[in-house]
Amino acid sequence: MKHLVFCLLFSAFLISHVVAEEVSLQGNQMQGGLIFGMTEPGNRVELNGQVLPVSANGHFLIGFGRNAKKEATLKITGLDGRVNTRILRVAPRTYKTQRINGLPSRKVIPKPKDVVRIRADNSDIARVRALDTRQAYFSSGFIWPVTGPVSGVFGSQRILNGKPKNPHNGTDIAALEGTIIKAPADGVVELVHENMFYTGNTLMLDHGFGLTSVYAHMSALLVNEGDLVKQGTPIGKVGKTGRVTGAHLHWGVTLNHTHLDPALIAGDMN
Ligand SMILES: [Zn+2]
Repeated sequence: MKHLVFCLLFSAFLISHVVAEEVSLQGNQMQGGLIFGMTEPGNRVELNGQVLPVSANGHFLIGFGRNAKKEATLKITGLDGRVNTRILRVAPRTYKTQRINGLPSRKVIPKPKDVVRIRADNSDIARVRALDTRQAYFSSGFIWPVTGPVSGVFGSQRILNGKPKNPHNGTDIAALEGTIIKAPADGVVELVHENMFYTGNTLMLDHGFGLTSVYAHMSALLVNEGDLVKQGTPIGKVGKTGRVTGAHLHWGVTLNHTHLDPALIAGDMN
């Protein structure tokens, strides 16, 4: 699918323009998708009028959120002032409704003292998502951190113990407790927390340029804040800490504050 999107885009572009080499886009042009862009170093890149950070090698990222509009305007301005504008079409998706029952009621309707804890957890997470590290760690590409049945998909509307909640902002992978979780891409460990209210043992990686990932409900944490990890490095073990009904990994990927679909980024599970 990834490849298909890429090829369609390019063939259409090559027919109408001769300056296609000024930008290449790989990834999923759909809601929840992440695009790995590449342009000539020094070019200025804007998406819908907003300037995007570009690495010294010309890498940049575009993320389409759960409810992204069906079109986005990409504008590349070269060092010579030449402007190349194109419309990116973003495929819409439909999202499931997932009902989960049997959660402890306190994890669905928190007590006032839990709310204090939840706010502190959220501010730790927000700090990492606000990072704008200018190192393109993400250029390693992405693999699945754990393989197993996907028990929760990105974007689904959640009804927990009968109460409508926020959409699910990651991918859940069911696996035996203790299964090793690998770093899906290069990055820096930016947060290690042993007891978040919802996510239990929680870890976050910074992949650079505003792209971060989160790993929740783990039974063990195997790295420390500040560690530089390579794709495949063991970072933790699958568990059932926090708000869960069974052992699984909740994996989330976020570009700045836009949640993306990790399953699209990792591609087919082998
Ligand atoms: Zn989840």
